Amino acid sequence: PTERFTELFKSHEAAATFYQRVFALTDEGTAGREYAEERGFTPEQLHHFQIGFAPAGWENLSIFLGKKDFKESDMVQAGLLAERDQSEGVYDRFRSRLMFPIWDGQGKVVGFSGRLVGEGKPKYLNSPETPIFHKNKLLYGLHLARPAIRKSNTAVLFEGAADVVAAWGAGVDNGVATLGTAFTDEHAKLLRRNAENVVVCYDSDQAGQSAAFRSTSVLEQAGCVVSIAHMPDGLDPDDYIRKFGAERFQTDVIGATQTVMAFKMRYLRLEKNLRNEGERMVYIEEVLQELAKLPRAVERDHYLRQLADEFSLSLDVLKQEQYRLYREKK
Ligand code: ATP
Ligand code: MN
Ligand code: MN
Ligand code: MN
Repeated sequence: PTERFTELFKSHEAAATFYQRVFALTDEGTAGREYAEERGFTPEQLHHFQIGFAPAGWENLSIFLGKKDFKESDMVQAGLLAERDQSEGVYDRFRSRLMFPIWDGQGKVVGFSGRLVGEGKPKYLNSPETPIFHKNKLLYGLHLARPAIRKSNTAVLFEGAADVVAAWGAGVDNGVATLGTAFTDEHAKLLRRNAENVVVCYDSDQAGQSAAFRSTSVLEQAGCVVSIAHMPDGLDPDDYIRKFGAERFQTDVIGATQTVMAFKMRYLRLEKNLRNEGERMVYIEEVLQELAKLPRAVERDHYLRQLADEFSLSLDVLKQEQYRLYREKK
């Protein structure tokens, strides 16, 4: 019954074209063009991701869609327009925003993510849930990245659409992102259908690393082989590429991933002072707990040695303790 949603699909297609034209051809698009240039988006990136601009003002899109005979109530349901509070009528949901179209698996536009240009809040505004747009089941860029994902048997998972676009510009064309929501089991299954390996490349700030920790376990539950790409100093992929360039992003970030266990060890010590004996013991215990989850003895042994070396502990004692935890898990 996609026919029921024909108007929703058509209006998204029309809106995407409208935003792209405003961006490329109009005076109202100047702010968008300047912002895109400031961010370093190239014409190739803008074209590949069909990036547009929603102009300032309350009824640019609504007049455009009205002329094309779309019904107001349908456009409100589509999430493109919103109903006025105080009076009759509708207004544009997206204003003064760089517009990233969001596609479904077949490449049809089903929603938008809009990055604010200028002052205000929220920084990103997404389409609401509609009959054709389900954030929890959809990954930004999957339709475009699918051939590269299949070919390499690997997907790179980013936090935001801007990171996917920046990575693509840096030659990493197998990237996808969630849309400002938690990574779900449905997302993981969707990826697993296209590739065995997933590289998690989240922002290196505290929020990003916590989210990476959670996404990693969801991915592993779904049977993906996960590795972690890391950037320094709280940077995100887009920041990193702008600062250090495409080549270093490929070699030092995407090409230098850590195992999940190494990532967990780094993560677990983030907010601890390991010179403090109590915190050190907590850390060691937490690492042993995580090690006990590893199926392969060789791997467990590798990290036990690392732990023993770093804290001058007896490897035998660590092994006994870890073996006890491992038995308990069974
Ligand atoms: P910037 O455009 O400044 O580079 P970013 O993409 O780095 O932004 P983050 O603040 O790191 O944004 O957030 C990561 C992702 O979370 C964003 O790409 C966006 O999808 C989502 N997000 C961020 N802020 C919001 C918000 N206020 N509402 C909805 N989603 C948001
Ligand atoms: Mn972030
Ligand atoms: Mn970010
Ligand atoms: Mn960013």
